[in-house]
Amino acid sequence: MLLVSSRLKSIRPSQTKATAARAAALKAEGKDIVSLSLGEPDFETPAHIAEAGIRAIREGKTHYTAVAGITPLREAIRQKFLRDNNLDYSLDQITVGCGAKQVVFDALYASLEPGEEVIVPTPCWVSYPDMVRLAGGEPVLVECLGDEGFKLKPESLEAAITPRTKWLMLNSPSNPTGAVYSRDDLGALAEVLRRHPQVHILSDDIYEKLVFGEARFATMASVAPDLFHRTVTINGVSKASAMTGWRVGYGAGPIELIKAMNVIQGQTTSHTSSISQHAAIEAISGDQSYIAEFKAEFEKRRDLVIGKINTAPGLSCRTPDGAFYAFVNCTGIIGRRGANAKGIETDSDFALYLLDEVGVAVVPGSGFLASPYIRISYASAMEELTDACDRIVAACTRLAEEKAA
Ligand code: PMP
Ligand code: GLU
Repeated sequence: MLLVSSRLKSIRPSQTKATAARAAALKAEGKDIVSLSLGEPDFETPAHIAEAGIRAIREGKTHYTAVAGITPLREAIRQKFLRDNNLDYSLDQITVGCGAKQVVFDALYASLEPGEEVIVPTPCWVSYPDMVRLAGGEPVLVECLGDEGFKLKPESLEAAITPRTKWLMLNSPSNPTGAVYSRDDLGALAEVLRRHPQVHILSDDIYEKLVFGEARFATMASVAPDLFHRTVTINGVSKASAMTGWRVGYGAGPIELIKAMNVIQGQTTSHTSSISQHAAIEAISGDQSYIAEFKAEFEKRRDLVIGKINTAPGLSCRTPDGAFYAFVNCTGIIGRRGANAKGIETDSDFALYLLDEVGVAVVPGSGFLASPYIRISYASAMEELTDACDRIVAACTRLAEEKAA
C-alpha cells in the first residue's frame, strides 16, 4: 500500500514556491543569486498595520475566533466592497481564510462534483489547475495570446463552455501577465455567460490595487450585477498591504457556497490567525495612503525592467498594466546553445541557464501553462532589479554571440 494517495499523482509542487526555495538554497550555500521568482512585495508591512497586530497580542486577542472570521473584520470587508467595488454583500456572504489561496481552494472544493469543468484562461497562476484537480474537477485550459493582450476572448469562452462547466476563473490584474480586463472586456464576457446559467465566476482580485497608467480595475459582479448571484469575489491583503506572511484572504458570494466553505474551514484550519485578523482590519479600514506609494514604486520598477529586458537579444515583453510581473517572451532564445554547450530547448532550460550562468532566478512560463516565456517578479528593490536585468541582458547577448560564432 502506498503512503501517498493516488489523488496526488497529477498534482505538481507549486513552481513559484519550488523556484524560490531553490534560489534560497543556492544563496544559503554562498552563491551570488538574485531571486525574482516569488510574487511578494519586498516592502515592510506598514507600521500602523503591524502595530494593530502587536496590540492584538498585548490585549490577549490570541484565542480561537469564529470560523468565518471575526465580525469587525467581516464588517471592514463589507465596507471595502461597498467603497471600492460598489458591491453590497451581507456579513454572512463573507468569509476570511488563510490567504486568498485557501479561499480559492475552498470555493472549488466546496462546489466541484467529480468531472465538472473549470475554465482556466492561460497563462494562469500556477496553482489554479492543480487546485481544480485536487477538488476533483477538470481544468479546461483556454489559451490567451500575447498579441491579444493575454485576455480571454468572448468567442474562446463560448467555445470552451460545455454542460459540465461549473466555473470560469478570472484573475485581473493577472499573475503572470499583468493583463487588466476593462469594464468592456468583462461586459463582453458577461454577454456569453448570460447564455450559460450553469457557469459561475470566480473572480480573483488579489492585485486590484496594482493597476498602472490609463488602465482601470473592474470586477465581474459589479460590471454585470445580474451575474452577482453567480460570482465569488476573492481578494486579500497580501499584495496590496505587503502582508504575505500574515495569511489573510477573503471571499464573498452566494450564501450557500460561503456556508459550505466555512464547513471546510471549520473542519481543517478553523480560521486564520486571530492576530492577523486584527491587523487586517487596520489594513482594510485604516490609512490607505501607503498603497499609492507602493503603486508608484512598482510602476517605476516595471518601467525599468521592461526597458532593460527589451534590449536583450531574443527577449521581448509587452508593458503590463498591473500586478508586479513581467511575462517575457523568449522564443528568440529557444534553440540556442550556451557556453556550456547545453542546448536551450524549453523555457525551463532557459530559466535554469539564467540561474546557473548568471545567478538570476525566474519562473519558466511552463509553470503558468504558457511557453516559451519566463516570469520576472519585479517586487524587488531597484538596485536588485537593475543588477538582475543587466545579468539577463549579458546572458542573452552571450547566447546570441555563441550562435553567431
Ligand atoms: N491569486 C493569485 C493570482 C496570486 O498570485 C496569489 C499569490 N500568492 C494568490 C491568489 C494568493 O495570495 P495569498 O494566499 O497570499 O492571499
Ligand atoms: N502568488 C505568488 C507567486 O505567484 C506567491 C507564490 C504562490 O503562492 O504561488 O509567486
